[in-house]
Amino acid sequence: MQKLAENIWKINVDSNIYFLDLKEKIIIDTGPRDYRDIVKKELSKIIDLSKIEKVIFTHLHYDHTGNFDIFPNAKFYTSEDEISYYKKHKIFAIGDPILAAKFNIGLQPLNYLEGFDIIQTPGHTKGSFCLLYKKEKILFSGDTLFFNGYGRIDFPGSAPEKMKSSLDFLDKTDYKILAPGHDY
Ligand SMILES: [Zn+2]
Repeated sequence: MQKLAENIWKINVDSNIYFLDLKEKIIIDTGPRDYRDIVKKELSKIIDLSKIEKVIFTHLHYDHTGNFDIFPNAKFYTSEDEISYYKKHKIFAIGDPILAAKFNIGLQPLNYLEGFDIIQTPGHTKGSFCLLYKKEKILFSGDTLFFNGYGRIDFPGSAPEKMKSSLDFLDKTDYKILAPGHDY
């Protein structure tokens, strides 16, 4: 576990999970299901999982949504575009048929989050987005931007033609800390 700012923690298991202890208790992405026990154990050191109010998915791939069901009282959010693709192509949206069959939660569009800019960054998936936490200038970039590159754009649900403009926009975005979906 790594502390990114006073109230923000990162847990790295193949993909990254972020816990934000703000006015609301928020999780950004939940990691792959294979790491379920570790994710539960690590997060439980800092927060009672039943206190998480919002779980936000930067996109719906299985390695970001795998542990959706360890937060019994949370509401779940992702972008409008991600939800509409999911409604049409559930298995492609999740990228794993077994998880897709289990994934039984209601998703709400994230249209506003206090203290954050929501930046739509289609490319890796049609509905991928980033969150900029303005107070600390932390950019949660999902699988759009990594430390050493960017996310794959060859999935059925990708929007390869839009990746460049998404990355160009992030390039002009004023952030201090990159908080990507994977540490590569
Ligand atoms: Zn992904």
